[in-house]
Amino acid sequence: MEVNDLHASIEAKKILNGVNLKIREGEVHAIMGRNGSGKSTLSKVIAGHPLYTINSGEISFQGKAINNLEPEERAAMGIFLGFQYPVEVPGVSNSEFLRAATNARRKYLKKEELDTFEFDEFVTTCLEVIQMNSSFLERNLNEGFSGGEKKRNEILQMAILEPIVSILDETDSGLDIDSLRIVSQAINKLSTKKTSTILITHYKRLLDEIKPDFVHIMNEGKIIKTGTIDLAIELEKGGFKRIQDSQQDKK
Ligand code: ADP
Ligand code: MG
Repeated sequence: MEVNDLHASIEAKKILNGVNLKIREGEVHAIMGRNGSGKSTLSKVIAGHPLYTINSGEISFQGKAINNLEPEERAAMGIFLGFQYPVEVPGVSNSEFLRAATNARRKYLKKEELDTFEFDEFVTTCLEVIQMNSSFLERNLNEGFSGGEKKRNEILQMAILEPIVSILDETDSGLDIDSLRIVSQAINKLSTKKTSTILITHYKRLLDEIKPDFVHIMNEGKIIKTGTIDLAIELEKGGFKRIQDSQQDKK
């Protein structure tokens, strides 16, 4: 996936100011940055959230520009977004939602759709990966789920959809220590040489479990610095200010 000089806004407010990002097969990228720097906006613009406008620049996936594709088309192609704030959808059962999503993706891949029995079998194996109780399937999508349960349910969606690029927006926030370990092990298990992951996080802890190839720092709608895990270590020691200042010195 490539993001080239991406500028985007919401309700006439400019948020992204020229983002460049190149993600190759098998890579793990971490994006860190202050609250309000545009990390969630970037992930939603890549996923095709209808409230955002792309002013200029291009997002391409597998060599094809996807700027004008509907979010469901991008999802079917294999782009997955795990939301920072998963939405509660009363009246829609989690299992029906997951089966519909699975079948939409399978249809795109020209695979046969799964009936309820086949899906039950498939989802059971996915539940094991994320160590979730099957009772969550019978409930309405995210309704009354705790913060951590919602995050786990996002990873369950990742497990069933088998995406090519997964963007996980603060999936680690709000998880207890055990859940964090289970979730990171699941993400590692779901990653292959053919898939890529973008982890948006505030904490080096997650990056100790899921080793990133690159760490990017985002500020005011732009990636201002790219490095390795050392950048996350530097951040933990000196905060964003130090990194920002060192960038200023170079100018
Ligand atoms: P991050 O995920 O890095 O914390 P966000 O991408 O969520 O940052 O937000 C970037 C900026 O966009 C913030 O200043 C936020 O207040 C602003 N923003 C997000 N949605 C809207 C909106 N609907 N109207 C105006 N500003 C918005
Ligand atoms: Mg955010």
